[in-house]
Amino acid sequence: MKITAVKTFPIFFGSRNYLLVKVETDEGIYGMGEFGITWKEQAGVGAVRHMTSDLIGQDPMNIERIWQTLFRGDFFPGGRINMAAQSAIDIALWDIKGKALGQPVYMLLGGKLRDKVACYGSFGGATPEQTAASARRQAAAGWKYLRNAVMDREGVLEPRTAVRDAVAHFAAAREAVGPDIELCIDVHTRLDTPDTIRLGRELEKYDPFFIEDPLRCENPQSYRLVRQHVSCPLAVGEQLATKWEFRQLIEEELMDYARIDLCIVGGLTEGRKVANWCETHYIKIVPHNPLGPVSAAACLHLDVATDNFGVQEGGLIGHTVLEDVFPVQIPFKDGYLLPPDRPGLGIEFNEDAASRHPFQWKQGPRLRREDGSFTNW
Ligand SMILES: [Mg+2]
Repeated sequence: MKITAVKTFPIFFGSRNYLLVKVETDEGIYGMGEFGITWKEQAGVGAVRHMTSDLIGQDPMNIERIWQTLFRGDFFPGGRINMAAQSAIDIALWDIKGKALGQPVYMLLGGKLRDKVACYGSFGGATPEQTAASARRQAAAGWKYLRNAVMDREGVLEPRTAVRDAVAHFAAAREAVGPDIELCIDVHTRLDTPDTIRLGRELEKYDPFFIEDPLRCENPQSYRLVRQHVSCPLAVGEQLATKWEFRQLIEEELMDYARIDLCIVGGLTEGRKVANWCETHYIKIVPHNPLGPVSAAACLHLDVATDNFGVQEGGLIGHTVLEDVFPVQIPFKDGYLLPPDRPGLGIEFNEDAASRHPFQWKQGPRLRREDGSFTNW
């Protein structure tokens, strides 16, 4: 089998773009991948185009050989944009391999280790009372894990205010759902180290399942200081590409849950390596999944075949998303993803439908401090 074409589909749906990558072969089997760096989709299109000459004519079954060639082929590391493009290609190759062998991808990753994959949904509201009601509704809908976020006030994020608000909302939710629903909180890198420590200490008595991404990712060493002061479990890593960027967090045990994003880290090939490395430090994986049906499927296959799995980000799972572009998606029921029996990723892609959702130029939300300066969204 030989790769004959690599196509990119930057599409807009709902409120955002998705960059889908299709790898075609001379045997009529195709594979689908997804690019994970939101708001940089056109850079992803260019990165994939740069990689195409290394792909055409190659046997798509030689996944590791292709991975190493794309990663090291051009001397200069391409950074996270490059890795997100490489991730999309890698996931597509696993899809092809599964289809060629007549097996779901999880069977190629070790087999069906669990029967279903627990996901977390989201909760939140404008007041603690609304947040509590939201958590109660979500728990009644079947979610066993829920996550809310540290919030701004109408576009202004002052860290000390945000910490106080977050604690009030989290406490109200815990009171509402009791101890049996796991509650998480995503800081979305909005705090610095002292405010993270303040948040973590205040939240301890409400037993969070994890605190996610309190700090930006440039200096993982700062998690050492957080670890000295906060006993809540930490979930970190959704912005990271390759095992090399996870290295310090794993080896120094600076996190409890690895937020691997398969569409950034280097695909299923690299995600599998990071997950196995985490296993040697009793770190569980909580794959990041804010993207579309390809990302969700890739996460499912890794989760099904990985023992050190924590919980899966639900993201858009369970919502109606891109149903014309992906007429077949992975099954979801009552807060759990279910492993499909179909070969490959278990999804079907409609190229014509994709062309009906043209790309739109977008940027992320911009938050500010009270003095007008920029702060992280
Ligand atoms: Mg996050």
